[in-house]
Amino acid sequence: MPMLGRMYDIATRQSALDLVAQGHSLNSVSKQTGISRAAIRAWQVRIEPLPRMLIDLAPCPRCRPEPGTPDDTAAYSYLLGLYLGDGCISPHPRGSFYLRIACADAWPGLIEACRAAITAVRPEGGVYNLQKQGYAMVTSYWRHWPCLFPQHGAGRKHERPIILEPWQQEIVDAHTWEFVRGLIHPDGCRATNWTTRTIGGETRRYEYPRYWFSNVSGDIRRLFTDALDRLGVEWKQANARNISVARRASVALMDAHIGSKH
Ligand SMILES: [Zn+2]
Repeated sequence: MPMLGRMYDIATRQSALDLVAQGHSLNSVSKQTGISRAAIRAWQVRIEPLPRMLIDLAPCPRCRPEPGTPDDTAAYSYLLGLYLGDGCISPHPRGSFYLRIACADAWPGLIEACRAAITAVRPEGGVYNLQKQGYAMVTSYWRHWPCLFPQHGAGRKHERPIILEPWQQEIVDAHTWEFVRGLIHPDGCRATNWTTRTIGGETRRYEYPRYWFSNVSGDIRRLFTDALDRLGVEWKQANARNISVARRASVALMDAHIGSKH
C-alpha cells in the first residue's frame, strides 16, 4: 500500500524518477514502488533543495509523464507565431536548450507580451531579457523547448521544411488570431500613411493603410496565409518575400484583432 507522508531517501526518489524518465506512467511506478503518485509528482516539480539531476526530470507538457499539450493553448499559439516569425532554439552545453525571441526596443509592449507568453506556456521556468543593440533577446532555458517546437532543427528555418504537427495545427485552428498576431508582431508592420512600390522601374505611391508580412521561408508564409484564409482576411503575394493585406474590410479585421504595436 502507498504510504503518504513517509520520508524517502534520495536514492529511492531517484529510482522512482528514473522509472518515470524511462517512460513508465505514474500509476505503474506507484504500483511498482509502493510510493504514492502524489509524492512522485511532488518530486518532479520540487526545485529546492533537490540536486540538479532531479530538476531535469521535471514534467513536460509534451513528453512527461504522458504526451499532452501545453495548458494555455492561446498563449502557445501566440508563442508559436513568435518563434516561427523571429525565434530560434539553440542547444545549451549542459543538455538544455534556450529559446530566444528577438524583440525590438521600440516596442516594449511586445517584449512584455512575449515574456508573458513564455511564462504562460512554462509557468515553472524563468525568462529574462538579454539586452542587445536596439533589441532585447527574450530568453528562456529548458531542455524541453524542442518538444514544444519540433520545427527546431539544424540550419536556418527557410532552408528546411516547416510543417506543423497535428497537435500544433489543432491549437492554431482553435486560436488562429493569436497565431497571426505572433507572426505579425516581429515580422509584420502596418503602413499607416503611405508606402511605395517599384514595378517595372516605375515607383508608385500608395496612400492607404495595409499590413505587410515578410518572411524568407515559403512554408512560414504559407502558414500565415492559410491562417488568413481561415479568418476571412484577403491577402496578396506582393513579391517573393512579402504578403500584403490591403482590402479595406480585411485591414479593419486585422486592426480589430492585431492592434497596434506599442
Ligand atoms: Zn519534453
